[in-house]
Amino acid sequence: DNSNNGGDLKKLPKATVKLITSSQVITSVFSVVKELVENSLDAKATSIDIKLDNCGFDRIEVRDNGIGIKSIDTKYMARPHYTSKIKDTQDLEMLDTYGFRGEALGSLCSLADVAITTKTADDAVSMTYLLSHEGKIIEAKPSHLGQGTTVTVTNLFRNLPVRRQFYANKKKQKEEMKKVEDAVMAFALLSHDVRFCLKHNNNVIWQKQPLADVKSALINVFGVNAMMHMEHVKRKSLETEIEIETFLPKKSSSSDVITRSTGDRFFCYINKRTVVMKDVEKLVRKCYLNSTGADATRYPMGFLHIVLPYKDVDVNLDPNKTLVLLQEKEKVLKFLTLILEGIYGPKGNKATECSSV
Ligand code: ADP
Ligand code: MG
Repeated sequence: DNSNNGGDLKKLPKATVKLITSSQVITSVFSVVKELVENSLDAKATSIDIKLDNCGFDRIEVRDNGIGIKSIDTKYMARPHYTSKIKDTQDLEMLDTYGFRGEALGSLCSLADVAITTKTADDAVSMTYLLSHEGKIIEAKPSHLGQGTTVTVTNLFRNLPVRRQFYANKKKQKEEMKKVEDAVMAFALLSHDVRFCLKHNNNVIWQKQPLADVKSALINVFGVNAMMHMEHVKRKSLETEIEIETFLPKKSSSSDVITRSTGDRFFCYINKRTVVMKDVEKLVRKCYLNSTGADATRYPMGFLHIVLPYKDVDVNLDPNKTLVLLQEKEKVLKFLTLILEGIYGPKGNKATECSSV
């Protein structure tokens, strides 16, 4: 009902609402890649190819060898709030997939031209679906691709001139490519058994074969040299059920190999999600700098995965899901401090300040 009794308050047209909400979910090339790779991982892919043309502004393609989308589901795959991942809010309390909102594909359709090719193990051939800006199938035709799903995105932000303009300059595009590369690496480290390949204008930017463990995957990102200076700790608190796995520079190393002038190679996750947790990163850096006496302008490289009971994490805080809310943050920081003191020295020496954030 659009009536407003003649007043000033009017309901927005559907298409306007869609554009506004979509452009919050799909904010940049980075967020397109993130959403599509998350879908591939949720589909249990063991091989993921990401191809960008002109930094993604001409074309973004993500191909996986996952379970595919059943033909009866294709009609709904890009319809708003259709998801195969949760059924109700209770499922959110034990969420073990990246996706749950049924928003990414639909939002993408309203901001770009999208085609999806998919095949399940039971299908004889794959099908390519061209989608309308409402996420409906316009055209379906058979394709030669094997099992899995390929999403192709062209004309991104065709209807958002300001955003297209914003990313039009070379500097912004380079920054965006860096973000994409970091995000792919972050996924590839955790999903160490999955093959990843990132190409830009047909050149391989970064790739990784399936590897046995996180440590082997980290060698791919940090290099062999840096990994020789890293200490691996994995601990679980029986009392709080918090588990922390981390690779951090050893106490004795202030070498340039394991530090950078930016914090961009500190990979921080909560329950497999890449998260931005400034206070956690600050705590780690402080302990590291205190105990090693490393140059105060440097940032330690590192990997930190915090695993909590699903019920203690709220991942629905922002559209990009990079901010999360922890029910017992103090407990997490306390446990992390304990681990940091194990690496950089106990309370009482230089690392005392570790305990204060
Ligand atoms: P969500 O991931 O929150 O469920 P999306 O819009 O990202 O929402 O995807 C909608 C649905 O399409 C998913 O729930 C899933 O069933 C299906 N889907 C999307 N991408 C893939 C993929 N790469 N492989 C298999 N199924 C997919
Ligand atoms: Mg998704």
